[in-house]
Amino acid sequence: MVFTPNGKHLVAGEWLDGAGTFASAPAHGPVHQFAVGTVDLVNRACEAAEDAFWSYGYSTRSERAAFLRAIADEIEARAGAITEIGSQETGLPETRLQGERGRTTGQLRLFADHIEKGEYLDRRRDAALPDRQPAPRPEIWLIQRPIGPVAVFGASNFPLAFSTAGGDTAAALAAGCPVVVKGHSAHPGTGEIVAQAIEAAIRKTGIHPGVFSLIQGGNRDIGHALVQHPQIKAVGFTGSLAGGRALFNLCAARPEPIPFFGELGSVNPMFLLPEALRARAETLGQGWAGSLTMGAGQFCTNPGIAVVAEGADGDRFVAATVEALGKVAPQTMLTDGIAKAYQDGQARFASRNTVKPLFTSESSGRSAAPNLFETSGAQFLADHALGEEVFGPLGLVVRVQTIDEMVQLARGFEGQLTATIHMDAADIADARRLRPVLERKAGRVLVNGFPTGVEVVDSMVHGGPYPASTNFGATSVGTMSIRRFLRPVAYQNMSEELLPEDFLG
Ligand code: NAP
Repeated sequence: MVFTPNGKHLVAGEWLDGAGTFASAPAHGPVHQFAVGTVDLVNRACEAAEDAFWSYGYSTRSERAAFLRAIADEIEARAGAITEIGSQETGLPETRLQGERGRTTGQLRLFADHIEKGEYLDRRRDAALPDRQPAPRPEIWLIQRPIGPVAVFGASNFPLAFSTAGGDTAAALAAGCPVVVKGHSAHPGTGEIVAQAIEAAIRKTGIHPGVFSLIQGGNRDIGHALVQHPQIKAVGFTGSLAGGRALFNLCAARPEPIPFFGELGSVNPMFLLPEALRARAETLGQGWAGSLTMGAGQFCTNPGIAVVAEGADGDRFVAATVEALGKVAPQTMLTDGIAKAYQDGQARFASRNTVKPLFTSESSGRSAAPNLFETSGAQFLADHALGEEVFGPLGLVVRVQTIDEMVQLARGFEGQLTATIHMDAADIADARRLRPVLERKAGRVLVNGFPTGVEVVDSMVHGGPYPASTNFGATSVGTMSIRRFLRPVAYQNMSEELLPEDFLG
């Protein structure tokens, strides 16, 4: 199925032009023109979202569940076209796009099932105590209510699961919040066809069209206007630390500051304990090389750092990693800008006298080949830049002398999305020292695995202390992500007939 984008913005059910056009920059396939967003369109979308909130924010959970399922169905109805244009725009293999589509529709259906159960509302009631002395206590109920229109910024590396109908949009819609998406300029055609699927679901279920708008990019002012619009009550963002921080600052500087749920970058350190290393250094090295280079290393959960003790077992691990990296062919990166940033990151590492190269390869144009560097624990702690994310297949081995130094190093890390321990049963005493440190650093702590691949389940946390995210106490993946777009309201001394219907169902 060949899909030709109309190149327009979707604002509350209407496909509109903007101020001029920008050209897409696909990895392969045809270039298309897309309308540039305007502040006027942002205003229209946000006002329509507020208008829609007065019905959608008070809809029943089963109505919203039906809407989420309809979006999933409509995405599946466009599966072939989504895969085709998604692969062209991002350079990701078709199989990856197919898998990501399944994750996106699965997420929408999971959230539909979840809200129908009602537990997420965390309903509470304290009975009245009319005879309490010295003063009676009134009856108090508590429930979670949707917060209002939400702005969503998707990421370049997940054109489906973290974009137009991805986790943030699904969570906000499940909560009862209309959404205005700022389309990612790296995959505008993919964004448009997913927006068409949402539009079809709106028509099918009779929901207010202001519940969803897509403003294409091409102009950074659009994002600024969106997060500052008075009708927007929260922002979901997945992307870079620099972009996230700029938008976070704007949210904080508003006359009415609003929460900015930013999922940013991370180096996802792995700690290799001695017995595990002794038993399977080669397997661990091969596994790391595979994880580090998967998808050209363009995962926020890419394990960029391995902390390993000095010695023969560590050397075996490094040798196996180098050997496996040597077999990895260059891969296409998502955008020219990301490819350039990777080459700059490699040059930054290569120019430091605190690291030594273990495996280097030249990357050019939009393709990236892996690189591996090594440093000592002391140098790592002294050189802050070594702990910064290089988005792509670049790894750093940090060699330590002792377990004490490994624990010390773990304490020095900034906030992470994930932290991993590789261990055997005989490593348990060392692992027990690391676990309390790592849980202060990361949203997800894993044992004997690689952190790429985030399960969409009730118990997932995808977030972590700053700078991994700006999400205090929140996750952007899994059913708990819906909580971000709700706020608790207490109802005191209110008759049951006046309470929100959600208390009863
Ligand atoms: P990005 O460059 O920050 O872009 C994300 C979105 O923000 C785009 O819509 C972009 O607009 C907009 N934006 C960026 N900077 C802006 C600014 N200063 N003002 C206004 N808008 C701005 O990120 P990306 O390249 O898409 O993604 C790669 C990064 O995301 C990596 O660092 C990766 O680790 C991280 N990431 C994190 C997660 C996670 O879950 N934590 C998941 C995936 C990726 P344009 O369309 O104009 O570029």
